[in-house]
Amino acid sequence: MDNNTIADNFTLLSKLMDIHGENSFKTKSYSIAAFTIEKLQTELKDMEAQQIFSIKGIGDAIGKKIIEQLETGQFALLNKYLETTPPGILEMLSIKGIGPKKIAVIWKELEIETLGELLYACNENRLTLFKGFGEKTQKNIRDAIEFYMNAQGSYLFQQVEQFSQNLDDLLKTSFPDSIFILTGEIRRQFEIIEKIEWVTTTVKDDLTTFFKSNNYDILEDTKTYTSFKGNANITLGFHLTSLDNIYNTLFLTSGSDSFLSSFNAQTSWEANGPYPSEEAIFSVNGLSYIPPYLRETANSIVLAKNDSLPEVIKTKNIKGIIHSHSTWSDGNNTLEEMAEAAISKGFEYLVISDHSKSAFYANGLSEERILAQHQQIHELNLKYAPFRIFKSIESDILNDGSLDYPESLLSAFDLIIASVHSNLKMTEEKAMTRLLKAIENPYTSILGHMTGRLLLSRAGYPVDHKKIIDACAIHDVVIELNAHPRRLDIDWRWIEYAISKNVLISINPDAHKIDSYDDCRYGILVAQKAGLTKEMNLSSFSLKSFEAFIMRQQKKRP
Ligand SMILES: [Zn+2]
Ligand SMILES: [Zn+2]
Repeated sequence: MDNNTIADNFTLLSKLMDIHGENSFKTKSYSIAAFTIEKLQTELKDMEAQQIFSIKGIGDAIGKKIIEQLETGQFALLNKYLETTPPGILEMLSIKGIGPKKIAVIWKELEIETLGELLYACNENRLTLFKGFGEKTQKNIRDAIEFYMNAQGSYLFQQVEQFSQNLDDLLKTSFPDSIFILTGEIRRQFEIIEKIEWVTTTVKDDLTTFFKSNNYDILEDTKTYTSFKGNANITLGFHLTSLDNIYNTLFLTSGSDSFLSSFNAQTSWEANGPYPSEEAIFSVNGLSYIPPYLRETANSIVLAKNDSLPEVIKTKNIKGIIHSHSTWSDGNNTLEEMAEAAISKGFEYLVISDHSKSAFYANGLSEERILAQHQQIHELNLKYAPFRIFKSIESDILNDGSLDYPESLLSAFDLIIASVHSNLKMTEEKAMTRLLKAIENPYTSILGHMTGRLLLSRAGYPVDHKKIIDACAIHDVVIELNAHPRRLDIDWRWIEYAISKNVLISINPDAHKIDSYDDCRYGILVAQKAGLTKEMNLSSFSLKSFEAFIMRQQKKRP
């Protein structure tokens, strides 16, 4: 059992005890233990009992519960609460906006035990009758449940990528005489995957036997399509076709509806082929090949006709790591480790942007600590030259839209990334006032994760994308494409507009540890959908061009 699992168990225990109305002193001690364990640098399983007991915030009683989990893989006290809590109540813990105290009221006073019931109660305006539930809370709960329910059975690309590859391999070895090609959402590099789909020449009955023997249920079963769902709760779909028709089927299942209808309208395409390759479908119609990720709108067809499709950005085009955190704030690796990893991965520079002082929960930097960090950066730059570390900060955009430090200190940074981290529940009007003020600030160079969304779990505050992009164009502010697979914010659907306004995008990993540098790839995959080129992506700039960019930015400053 690793530290994260043990910490999660204590967090869950503390929440369940709150729901059951236990002594709050006790429940707090478990949540503190969880917090402590999360921050430990050493795995508990590698520690002696005495060492565990002596950790600050753990002590004997909780220490014994840790050892119980390490030795037996069980946690009796947690099990006791799990057994006496209805499953629907447990599910409510996943809904944003209802904490344990509110769940206790919902369960004990409203006598509601499932999400469906709770949604119904919200629609019936019943929650407002209870203490602590205003009309606003009720609306938030309703929105969150709807969001949660929509998300069931959907996954981040990153969550299913390996799974789909493994399954693809397994199918190919299990049916050596058949062809399997991944298609649909995966092939089109969607950020959220609802189904994993293939085109295949297998016989349907053989597929059915295969999946049934692996405990999958059949969802759909027609002459040309069959789908299954197993424990992993994701739909696996198969477009059944013949060897002659495989490329037509691949083409038909790879594009969006709007792309395909435009393609039909603009070409003399015959859906019944046969075609020797997918490329042939394009070439016989006088078009250059449109890669699957660009098959979204009619626009790519127009470009393919003129042989002017963009040469989209690739992972190898990322030259620097922009937006990263170190142990100076809430990162897991030291500044030195972050720099050395960037060097060994072949990057030319690292922009270190720890949290600013208002992000106290993330150990945001006081003014004194900033100066100390700058001294360290100065020393490391001498050591690592020509590699360069840039002095940056992820400055909170405060409630009134201002940045987190006085101008005298802001001017000490090479560049500033401005992001919203607090008071995320805003109307569009409020969000726009806040963001526009930050964009107008002459010290802002990059706008971080524009909407604050967390895919599949938080919708993000509403913004007017056009107005933000227009403002960034006027004030020469770069828009981040936060490459964390759960953010991917700015949404790729707005990048084309940004490019048309000559606004630079920056694919940034927002790395809190070395491994997360690789997240850049998820940003690349969606950026390709938007037709982003390396020229329009800041993190593809060479060190020299990046330095020139910073000079230009600093000219904005008073
Ligand atoms: Zn952030
Ligand atoms: Zn960050």
